[in-house]
Amino acid sequence: TSFAHFGFDEQLMHIIRKSEYTQPTPIQCQGVPIALSGRDMIGIAKTGSGKTAAFIWPMLVHIMDQKELEPGEGPIAVIVCPTRELCQQIHAECKRFGKAYSLRSVAVYGGGSMWEQAKALQEGAEIVVCTPGRLIDHVKKKATSLQRVTYLVFDEADRMFDMGFEYQVRSIASHVRPDRQTLLFSATFRKKIERLARDILVDPIRVVQ
Ligand code: AMP
Repeated sequence: TSFAHFGFDEQLMHIIRKSEYTQPTPIQCQGVPIALSGRDMIGIAKTGSGKTAAFIWPMLVHIMDQKELEPGEGPIAVIVCPTRELCQQIHAECKRFGKAYSLRSVAVYGGGSMWEQAKALQEGAEIVVCTPGRLIDHVKKKATSLQRVTYLVFDEADRMFDMGFEYQVRSIASHVRPDRQTLLFSATFRKKIERLARDILVDPIRVVQ
């Protein structure tokens, strides 16, 4: 597979070319077409596999389609991950590739200023990258709403479980409309992750790095 097989438009291809990636990684070759098709997906992949781009590129395509169908407020895509560092990294990638379509991303994580994050959320963004507890805090305070979310990603799910975020992860999934697309990434596929997948994904396709 080459990047041309994904059918991305010129704006996105331009940024991918600028990144000097020579070819898609295995998780991208397998995962991108599935995510673009709209199916739910379980990705078993570690950091360094290129998994972030594997969910960001189809996310951008999804957002551009959805924005036309449903103008309004609140994010269209939410990416949930375990730590502040990962949040910032994913947010940086969202900004880099999201520039192709002038999409806005906001990062909200524990330890950052609630007030500054709430202000950024209220200014509006199609993409929110977050740690689980902090997103719930903002939703409770009505700094943002999940009603327009149709693309939901859980990254490093096993690590979120190890950190005690299972309740929050499930709570976020239950507050996003059921007609969403859900992607679940995890380095391992333990019983608890399998159970989560059964509960929050619909007929998912599994991809192994
Ligand atoms: P990730 O596994 O998503 O954390 O990505 C690991 C690193 O690989 C990041 O620095 C990405 O920018 C980079 N990367 C992602 N996709 C590709 C690719 N197709 N070719 C080369 N590097 C890539």
